[in-house]
Amino acid sequence: MRLPFIFASCCTLLSVYTQAEQPDTRAHQHGVARLELFQLATDLQISFYATGSDILGFEHQPETPAELDAVKKAKTLLDQPDKLFSIAGADCHLKHHQSNLAELQQHTGAEHKHSHSHDHDHDHKHAGHSDIEASYQFSCKAVTESVTLKVNLFSLFPDLQQIHSSWITQKGQSAATLTPADHQLSLD
Ligand SMILES: [Zn+2]
Repeated sequence: MRLPFIFASCCTLLSVYTQAEQPDTRAHQHGVARLELFQLATDLQISFYATGSDILGFEHQPETPAELDAVKKAKTLLDQPDKLFSIAGADCHLKHHQSNLAELQQHTGAEHKHSHSHDHDHDHKHAGHSDIEASYQFSCKAVTESVTLKVNLFSLFPDLQQIHSSWITQKGQSAATLTPADHQLSLD
């Protein structure tokens, strides 16, 4: 069975699991992000989802030089997974990563704009501009019995207050909510 198929089916499994086990963590909620991890043999996949407000400070097409600069800065950060995550208990090397910030950088000038105050949940139907997504594929060797992941996103994106995390490994699946005070996962 080809690996991409395994990845895809496990991500589906993971999303079913997260929806079944936790409150609706997929809602667009300021201050709250989502992390999905999948580990199979030597492969580790990490997917991160957050609101544009928490990553950029706005949720519309970048227009001003300051907004374009914010996109550039956020993209530089999300392009450095070694700054975002500290993996222990395995020797992991990045194989591939992507984020939808590149797409945002290509857009200049407002196709549509909206602003809203914090502290409310809402479903955002605007295609790809209100939520930031990034994914990372690692190849790991010397994988030990206890792989831990320290998540450094809170210090890099201070508007984040919670990260709903869920993971599937060969040992099973689990979930946890990370906070600035407690931001390490044990994948066992
Ligand atoms: Zn929003």
